[in-house]
Amino acid sequence: MTSLELEERYSRQMLFPGIGAEGQRKLAQARIAMVGCGATGSVLASLLGRAGVGTIRIIDRDYVESSNLQRQSLFDESDAAESLPKAIAAARKIAAFNSQIVVEPHIADLNPANIETLLAGVKLILDGTDNFETRYLMNDYAVKFSLPWIYIAALGSYCATLNVLPGKTACLACIFPESPRGALATCETAGILNSVVNLVASLAATEALKLLTGAGDHLRHTLLSFDLWGNERSEIVADRPRLGCRACGQHEFVHLTGEGRPHITLCGRNSVQIHEHHRPLNLAQMSERLQPHGAVRHNDFVLKFWQEPYEMTLFPDGRAIIKGTTDTAVARSLYARYVGS
Ligand SMILES: [Zn+2]
Repeated sequence: MTSLELEERYSRQMLFPGIGAEGQRKLAQARIAMVGCGATGSVLASLLGRAGVGTIRIIDRDYVESSNLQRQSLFDESDAAESLPKAIAAARKIAAFNSQIVVEPHIADLNPANIETLLAGVKLILDGTDNFETRYLMNDYAVKFSLPWIYIAALGSYCATLNVLPGKTACLACIFPESPRGALATCETAGILNSVVNLVASLAATEALKLLTGAGDHLRHTLLSFDLWGNERSEIVADRPRLGCRACGQHEFVHLTGEGRPHITLCGRNSVQIHEHHRPLNLAQMSERLQPHGAVRHNDFVLKFWQEPYEMTLFPDGRAIIKGTTDTAVARSLYARYVGS
């Protein structure tokens, strides 16, 4: 693409005085990470990809299902039918509307063991997760390495967002030393409106544009939240670190050392994730092995195995998501029986 074509593509954005030609150049050079690419992640990746952010690394552990389509705007029915990993589906969609930027998909669950590798070289981290465990992990990493990140949450008709600029603003642990009340509610138990997702992701995408184009003076220094059904809006000042904060005050990065998280129960949907067997799997071979024991289907990215009442999804890195139980012992024994110990 010639520079003239590039100028044409981004012309309406470059006409906006806050961005201009210089801002557009900075966006093209920027490298960001999207941790989680579900509802808010879809909108963020779409907005920032269209805006011309040069490199977007997408880290997501999950695959597309039909219950995602109501709000996860990067995905369609064929992605759900194929159980395509969200990172892969997102990369394909972004390439279709902007082939000039780089998307780096990683099918992975961000954890203390892989966070340094997965977030290496990025300038900004965006929170597209649905859980506080991963958010505290990102917060510790960001504060330790003085990297900005944006907290983004949406549930029911409620949403909230906060820019974390280590050393300048409050961090997540300044505001929520412990997971906030109600954090255990999930999209599956409390539901979610797609309009709320779009609102909060748009707010965060705008903050990301300010940050990446060097318009730091315009960044918001509050925890901003909305309840769109209840017509409420609130803002909490977050313009400095809290004295005595575990993370930014005392530099106790407990979540970075939190090794051995053996199992995670996913988003309240009667499933268990096993990620303690970091042993690569050959999905084609595994498919043949499982054939006599139940229905099985695979593509390059995932293998699905059904054995009533369970559904097991295997990823090439050896990770598994087992649906139909929240009993980790049951999940573990299924995995051991069919995949290996
Ligand atoms: Zn703090």
